[in-house]
Amino acid sequence: MTEIKHHLNDQLLIGYATGSLPEAFGLVVATHISLCDECRARFEAFEAVGGSVLEHATEGTNLSEVDFGATLKRIAAGDQEKLAAKPAKPGVFPSALQEYVGGDLSAVKWRPVGMGVRQAILKTRDNASVRLLHIPAGKAVPDHGHAGMELTLVLQGAFRDDHDRFGRGDIEIACEDLEHTPVAEDGMDCICLSATDAPLKFNGFLPRLAQRFLRI
Ligand code: ZN
Ligand code: ZN
Repeated sequence: MTEIKHHLNDQLLIGYATGSLPEAFGLVVATHISLCDECRARFEAFEAVGGSVLEHATEGTNLSEVDFGATLKRIAAGDQEKLAAKPAKPGVFPSALQEYVGGDLSAVKWRPVGMGVRQAILKTRDNASVRLLHIPAGKAVPDHGHAGMELTLVLQGAFRDDHDRFGRGDIEIACEDLEHTPVAEDGMDCICLSATDAPLKFNGFLPRLAQRFLRI
């Protein structure tokens, strides 16, 4: 088992335990939990403590409009599938993700997004979106900032950005104040699962200038 250095925070684990996360983020959380014993244990603890404690714990956070009573009833009724409790099958994708993709890596329908990077957007029911990213070894995802939150889980290979290194199982939580240029490490293509709740803001000066120029 690879050593995971970057984990989920309590807010995300509680959000997932109460069913209040958008589906896109829930999938990334479930996939991390199925790779990470530490976060699975924390998740199960949050699930076990129950509604009033969770309600208290999320006061002052921006997990908005959570109907804890109804959510916990659904959990109790077994309506929320226990994706996280399933151990990872052999393969690049843990079982939680394989259900979305309809198989492992070979089942992904990739689309090019430029500079050798490919993506596959997975269908979810809400506004937040989740995609698989394939970054060729040694290549970068264009420099960008974030209008909202971006949650990225590494499934194969590794990437570095200006701040740290992320290998299989690691989670990067990028918020509005972070700008970064993820670069896949040499030697192996990097596959990530990434959820965002707002479009990325690319920093390329020329594309933006050209865009403005053409409108005049
Ligand atoms: Zn973890
Ligand atoms: Zn980013």
